[in-house]
Amino acid sequence: MVNRRTRHRLRRENKQIARERISVLFNRVKEVFSEEPQLAQYYVNLAKKIGMRYKVKLPIELRRMSCKHCKSLIFPGINCRIRIQQRREPHVVITCFNCGGFTRIPLRNRGISSR
Ligand SMILES: [Zn+2]
Repeated sequence: MVNRRTRHRLRRENKQIARERISVLFNRVKEVFSEEPQLAQYYVNLAKKIGMRYKVKLPIELRRMSCKHCKSLIFPGINCRIRIQQRREPHVVITCFNCGGFTRIPLRNRGISSR
């Protein structure tokens, strides 16, 4: 029987392991994307699953790397375009070449907590 304190400690360790695994996957994604996009997509899905399982937030870079609309992996200069718009409030517009969808990221509040 595992007491409560031990269980709490184990959970924290699991989270740490999950974070490490996600960052390893993230590095692999960057390595393989140009040659094996499908493998890269697989790594991203895996990282997302780990993140959900252990309730670990994915690094913001990784979240930016997948299209909000079609969920496919997007890389600047390969299959998406990034433009900075200064009109009204400054924001970044990411255009996905897969589905043609736009993702707007406001530059003012840097935290972006809701996404
Ligand atoms: Zn898309």
